[in-house]
Amino acid sequence: MEPVVTMDKLVSLCKRRGYIYQSSEIYGGLSSAWDYGPLGVELKNRIAQFWWKEMTQLHDNIVGIDAAIMMHPRVWEASGHVANFSDPLVECKGCKMRFREDQLPEENRISKKCPNCGKDLTEPRKFNLMFKTHIGPLEDAASIVYLRPETAQGIYVNFKNVTNTTRVKIPFGIAQIGKAFRNEITTKNFIFRTCEFEQMEMQYFIRPNEDAKWFDYWKNERIKYYEKIGVRAAKLQFHEHGKDELAFYARRAVDVYYEFPFGWNEIEGIHNRTDYDLQQHTEYSGKDLTWLDEETKERFLPFIIETSAGLTRQVLVALCDAYDEDEAQGEKRVVLRLHPSIAPVTVGVFPLVKKDGLAELARTIELGLREDYPTFYDESGAIGRRYRRQDEAGTPYGITIDYQTKEDDTVTLRFRDSMEQVRVKVGELSARIRSEIKNYKRS
Ligand code: ATP
Repeated sequence: MEPVVTMDKLVSLCKRRGYIYQSSEIYGGLSSAWDYGPLGVELKNRIAQFWWKEMTQLHDNIVGIDAAIMMHPRVWEASGHVANFSDPLVECKGCKMRFREDQLPEENRISKKCPNCGKDLTEPRKFNLMFKTHIGPLEDAASIVYLRPETAQGIYVNFKNVTNTTRVKIPFGIAQIGKAFRNEITTKNFIFRTCEFEQMEMQYFIRPNEDAKWFDYWKNERIKYYEKIGVRAAKLQFHEHGKDELAFYARRAVDVYYEFPFGWNEIEGIHNRTDYDLQQHTEYSGKDLTWLDEETKERFLPFIIETSAGLTRQVLVALCDAYDEDEAQGEKRVVLRLHPSIAPVTVGVFPLVKKDGLAELARTIELGLREDYPTFYDESGAIGRRYRRQDEAGTPYGITIDYQTKEDDTVTLRFRDSMEQVRVKVGELSARIRSEIKNYKRS
């Protein structure tokens, strides 16, 4: 039996409903680059806002920054990216396809044969993933800049700025959301792996001897986060890095994995980076990046526990996890069971018919709800069809204004997941929706 959610179905739904389009499509598309449409940008923004609130507002010791994408080139020497941020590239001598050697199926890695055409593969060579460009009119070595391959370094180099200009005290965190760029050898699976993507990272600065405690704390917090945005627990698991996978400076690393239609894959990394980053930037910049603990008068380089998540990858998680099919009035229904806290539209508002003043009444109700929720007003077509469109778009609640509304000031509130309907007083709608969102459980 075909699985409920496949990548083909998802890509086609995303296009049909204005979630995600192929980049530069009218020119034939740019390989593996994607544009977020009207619903896609809302979903992406709402996930980003949810993460930001979760990671800054709900903690009294985490602040945010927004660093520039282009940074001093020495940053990437200090971080090790210039020397080491590379993947092993192999090419097929027959069909010329390129692969990341470490991602080849095991039999191809051992046999050194192309998974596409079976011909010989070249020996692996190191391919640096950073995009390089130049600042200013001269393309010389002095003008080289890189598009950042991760947002984390923007946080490390601002460590002193933040501690000098705010009242944060260790342990504290710095959070950032922003674009990152990697010249990936193989980009595939829709928006899972792209050359331009967005990250949501939080670097937590701690006393060196407290690393085990804070690592466990963040590991626990981060898995709870995914459940809060509605991801089913059965689709999530941890992957602990073995000794052979750990970066040489890292003391521990755990990835959060999600079961995509194409298998289990990483969606976030939680890393104990020790004091490596601040040590490297101290050495390369010549600036003192130690922290003076005012209570104990100790001076030390903080350790860092990093939580590094992909925003665009989380959009894919949300969509894969929400996609479902069932039956409504004898017909197949496609429904996106997005959590109401991240759904692009919270409430669809529909007059049963346009005439007899129902459209005007529905508009007034919709305008009243706009301040509180993202709404969508739709008056054309059969009501069942209008519901179906919003089910497919992931809108969790629908309000229908009918003749009874004129008599007793009530509307029907329809639930996307169960398709149940209840009558609610217009004046109580906003509070009712708020309580529904708070108590939402996917059925
Ligand atoms: P991989 O080994 O799969 O290339 P990585 O382990 O190097 O990835 P990290 O550097 O830990 O990835 O990146 C942190 C997070 O950023 C990832 O968990 C993922 O969510 C996101 N991410 C990394 N690379 C990409 C990409 N090319 N496209 C989309 N998201 C990405």
